[in-house]
Amino acid sequence: MNESLDSTQCDRYSRSLLVKSFEEADQHRLLTSRVLVVGAGGLGSAIIQYLAAAGVGTIGIVDDGTVKPSNLQRQTIHGVDDVGEPKVDSAARFVGALNPDVTVETHSVRVEPDTAEALVEGSDVVVDGLDNFPARFLLNDVCRLEGVPFVHGAVYGLEGQTTVFRPGGPCYRCLLPEAPDPDVAPSGEPMGIFPTLPGTIGCLQATETLKLLLERDGILEDHLLRYDATDATVVRTPLERDPDCPVCGPDGIDSIEDVDYGGRCRIER
Ligand SMILES: [Zn+2]
Repeated sequence: MNESLDSTQCDRYSRSLLVKSFEEADQHRLLTSRVLVVGAGGLGSAIIQYLAAAGVGTIGIVDDGTVKPSNLQRQTIHGVDDVGEPKVDSAARFVGALNPDVTVETHSVRVEPDTAEALVEGSDVVVDGLDNFPARFLLNDVCRLEGVPFVHGAVYGLEGQTTVFRPGGPCYRCLLPEAPDPDVAPSGEPMGIFPTLPGTIGCLQATETLKLLLERDGILEDHLLRYDATDATVVRTPLERDPDCPVCGPDGIDSIEDVDYGGRCRIER
């Protein structure tokens, strides 16, 4: 494939091309990359809009929800006219208006054991814009089995966290072997989220995704970055592989077939 950009693209991406060690071949690499964004909510809004603006050529968007008025406080790719519409369609319209270089593949489905593998297959990177534990554990497990980097992000109230799980390093289950008790920490329930928090964490996730696609050094893969907007603190906690991890450890699973992704997503050993 011809690796040179056309004149419209040279103009569109000119500020990227002025970044130190960002070459035309790097932009071409982004244009031929494929990223799956799971969740088109608050995190997804930031992730999708910046990946699209950056010129990531194919963006798969997974979300089975519709746009609600209460989403608009933080989910910036959706507008008043989109209320009632599937989020994936609203997201695709946003991307179409922003960058014609980007192809959007919409998946208005839930992330379930029988859909997850097909969604992840062929992706260069999978990005976590989820709000529930079962889907996050499932995607972590599938990404690790398929050898696909998984860019984690989560927000709650005034706090958020992000890191990158990729083959060879820790995975989400090294950090959290199983989901909290649903009675103690309900998953997917409405919770308070400060309007800008998903934007902050989602932008960090989009940045790490671009770095992964460009094979840059300095990927956020051995630390968990926590941001607390209350006092504007950022704390990086070292992350290590758990030698007994039920997914990436030496005795880890080789299929999701026998894993129960209800409740605590526990892997029986
Ligand atoms: Zn692990």
